[in-house]
Amino acid sequence: MHHTTRPGWIEVIAGVMFSGKSEELIRRVRRSVIAKKKVQVFKSHLDDRYGGVYQVSSHNGAAVEARPVDSSIEIMRLVRPQSEVIAIDEAQFLDEGVVDVVTTLATRGVRVILAGTDTDFRGEPFGAMPQLLAIAEIVDKLHAICVVCGDPACRNQRLINGRPAAYESPTIMVGGSEAYEARCRHCHSVPKADEAQVRLL
Ligand code: ADP
Ligand code: ZN
Repeated sequence: MHHTTRPGWIEVIAGVMFSGKSEELIRRVRRSVIAKKKVQVFKSHLDDRYGGVYQVSSHNGAAVEARPVDSSIEIMRLVRPQSEVIAIDEAQFLDEGVVDVVTTLATRGVRVILAGTDTDFRGEPFGAMPQLLAIAEIVDKLHAICVVCGDPACRNQRLINGRPAAYESPTIMVGGSEAYEARCRHCHSVPKADEAQVRLL
C-alpha cells in the first residue's frame, strides 16, 4: 500500500478485458467503505454490458453502485466536496480532460482509483490511458488468460462473425455485433483490410 503523510493520489488499474480490473476496483471500493471513507463511483456510460448501468460489475458477478457519465466534466460536476475516494471504471472511454480532472482531485486530497483497458483491439494505447498511467503514483497492470494457449493475456482480440477484425475497423464499435477474447501477444491477430499486405510483412 501507498503510505503518505497527506491524502490525495492517483491509482491506475490497467489491463485487458477479463484481467480482473473491475474485480480489483470493486475490492478497493468495498475496503474504503469498510474504512468508513466517503466514496463515489463513476463509469463511462459507454459500458452497459453487465447488469444495470448504475453498477460496476465484474465478469464474476461482483458489483457496486456506479454513476454513468458522458464526460470528465460531468465527473467534476458530480463530485461531492466531502468525498474522500473517487473510483472511475472504463476510463479508456473518457475524454482527455479526465487527466486534469483526476489531477485536480488528487491535489485536493482525494484518493482517485481508475480502472481501464490500456490497449485497444489493435494492441495500441487506448484513449487517455497512457497519460493516466504516467501521472499515477500507483500502477497495477493485470493480465487475463489467453483463451488460445493459456499464457498470460495482454491483448484484446476483436472477432467479427468469429474472424479477427481488420486493423481499420473503428476503435469503439457501439452496438456492433463483435465479440472479444483475451489473448497473448503471440496468439493476437489484427489483419490489415488488404490481406495481401499482411503476407508481405
Ligand atoms: P475486467 O474488468 O478486466 O474486464 P473483470 O473483473 O470484469 O475483468 O472479470 C475478471 C473475471 O473474468 C475473472 O475473475 C474470471 O472469473 C473471468 N474470466 C473469464 N474469461 C477469462 C480469461 N480469459 N482470463 C481470465 N479471467 C477470465
Ligand atoms: Zn496465447
